[in-house]
Formats: sequence, structure tokens, C-alpha cells
Amino acid sequence: MNNSSRIPFNRPHMTGRELHYIAEAHMNGKLAGDGPFTKRCHGWIESQTGTAKALLAHSCTAALEMAALLMDLEPGDEVIMPSYTFVSTANAFALRGAVPVFVDVRADTLNLDESLIEAAITPRTRGIAPVHYAGVSCEMDTIIDIARRHGLRVIEDAAQGVMASYKGRSLGSIGDFGAFSFHETKNVISGEGGALLVNDPALATRAEIIREKGTDRSRYFRGEVDKYTWQDVGSSFLPSEMTAAFLWAQLEEAEGLTAQRLALWDVYHERLAAMERAGVLRRPIVPTECAHNAHMYYILLDSGIDRQKVLDYLGEQGINAVFHYVPLHSAPGGIRLGRAHGELGVTDSISSRLIRLPLWIGLSVEQQAHVVETLATAVELA
Ligand SMILES: *Cc1c(COP(=O)(O)O)cnc(C)c1O
Repeated sequence: MNNSSRIPFNRPHMTGRELHYIAEAHMNGKLAGDGPFTKRCHGWIESQTGTAKALLAHSCTAALEMAALLMDLEPGDEVIMPSYTFVSTANAFALRGAVPVFVDVRADTLNLDESLIEAAITPRTRGIAPVHYAGVSCEMDTIIDIARRHGLRVIEDAAQGVMASYKGRSLGSIGDFGAFSFHETKNVISGEGGALLVNDPALATRAEIIREKGTDRSRYFRGEVDKYTWQDVGSSFLPSEMTAAFLWAQLEEAEGLTAQRLALWDVYHERLAAMERAGVLRRPIVPTECAHNAHMYYILLDSGIDRQKVLDYLGEQGINAVFHYVPLHSAPGGIRLGRAHGELGVTDSISSRLIRLPLWIGLSVEQQAHVVETLATAVELA
């Protein structure tokens, strides 16, 4: 197959205004963080999600680290989370000396199994970090209820959850903190980028201080104090105006970007129904209370099928499909820094059977049909 007909796994989509806004930032002569574009992005996230305070960060990883700092975690404290997630969910807390406690996921949504959380709580538990996998919400009412009853913070890893909701509430705005990612593999992008959503207004000022190297510089710029000084621990978590300008071009089109992804997702979902009926794979399940954002289209192969053979065949036919995650509880870092609670049988099973299909704006229906047909052949051969 020649190179031009290869189907990449991801292709970052530009709305067309990115360079225009970067040029505007350049003309403003304001290149460091917290200029007009950053403020616009903050305002957009706040009105879109209803969060008390949105703060751009240089990544979702950085936003999670800010949340961990705001929790004043101490070595030996514990945070409950799924093992089936990206490393940053765990590392943000491990960096503070806290212990990630891994709990199994639900077989339907592949999200943290809320029915297993309470049994994992110990006197050292300080928080719960649900991850909204594929932009499909965790069972937040139950998780918030458990957290309230045990005095725990809820940190939503909403890296994949921009523009998705649970019972009408935006992901990232439901727990105490939410973290968005604008990495180029996500739905709304700025290359690298992220945001912390601070949903408890009492923590907003301290969040600004932690983000600005431990100083009250944000209050100084608002004229609330006449000089800025060292107040607290902190680091430099803010992105430059160039990144914020790029992001603004994406946020102002976020609704359209989501609609286009949903249309692609629906094509796969319809065309893969027959293979699900034939019992060779299962398609994603989205509970009715969740409005997802089509962050990804994944399939779960039947356990008798050799995933590597399927991936190899797709690759030979020019289709770049991928898998993730290697479960954290069995990775070297997870064994050393974390602890598994219970068996994690669902995690082990799904992580060995999952395949993510190419999904990006610009992918044609013909290309999607080719992916589905090639997958059908691959499954027969595997
Ligand atoms: C992408 C992702 C992250 C990390 O986002 P960055 O912006 O690259 O730091 C964290 N958690 C999950 C679940 C992700 O998918």
C-alpha cells in the first residue's frame, strides 16, 4: 500500500485561526503567561463548565500536580484511582509521596468501579481520582456521595472529557478539582496544554498562588495587593500566551469540533454492530446519563483473538491502530509506588483486548469503511 493511502491513528486538526491569534499575541507584545488570550480561555472554560475558577496549565499532568499540592498530601497518604489510566493520574500524587491505590474498573465503561471504592478506603485515604475514560463519565453521584461521607477530595482526571457531561454537568466541574488536557492527541488542542478547574471557590486564591511560583502575583495584577511576595509552595505551571492564543482558536470552535468527532464515532458504531452481533468484539457502552465527546473509538476483541496479530495485519494494510494502557498496578512504577486493592480482573482482561481505531477530523467515510472491512479480515485471520 502506498504512503498516501496510509491511515494514521491521529492527525491534529487546526481550525484555521491559530496563527492569526498567535500573530495577535505577538503584536500585543505580551508573550509570557496570563495575558489577554489566557484570560479569554479562562472565561470560556468557566462559562462552559460552570467551574468557580479555571486556570490554564502547560499540561493536564501539571494541572493534576497543582491539585495534589492544593490537597497538602503527606507521605503515606492514599489516593484511590483506576489502574487502567495514563501514568500522570498516579504520578501527580506519587510526587507528593502519596500512595496510589488501584481499584478495578467497570466492565461496561472501563471507568473506576464505584462499588469497589469504599472497601479500599483506609485511615490514610485522602482522595478519589476518577478518570473519565474516552470522555464517558464515571458514576459521579455515587463517587461524590462516598467522598462526602468519608471526608475525601475528588480529583477528576478529565483529560479526555472536554465538552462531555454527566447528568448535564460538565466533566471536570463535578468534584473538588478537574483537570483537562489540550495535548495534540485530545479533542481540543494547543500542542501541549491543560487546565485546572477549581470547583471549591475557597481554594481559588491558593490555586493561583501555587501556579505562580508560590507568589500572589495574580492578586498584584488585579490591584488587590501593592506588591507581590512569596506566599506558599508553588511552581511555574502556566503556559505562554502563544499557547493560549492557539488554544483560543480551538475553544471558540469546540462545539463544532465535538460534533464532527461524534459523527465519525457514530459511523464506526453503526458499521461495527454486525461484528458485535457475531461475537468477535464489543463496542463502547455509553450510559444514558452520560453525554460523551467522541474522544476515541475503541473495540474490545473477544478473548480468543490474538490482538497483536490483528494490529499487525491492520498495520500491513496501512492502518495505524493502537492499544493502551499497560495497567499501572503491574508496571514497575506502580509496583514500587502504588498498591493494588483486590484482584483487578477486569483491568487485566480489557487492557489485553482493547484496540483504538483511527479517529480524527478529516477522516473520510470511505477510510472508515476501509478500517472496518480490514478489521473484519484481520479478526478472521487472527
Ligand atoms: C492525556 C492524558 C493525561 C495527560 O495529559 P497531558 O496534557 O499530556 O499532561 C492524563 N490523564 C489521562 C487520562 C489522559 O488521557
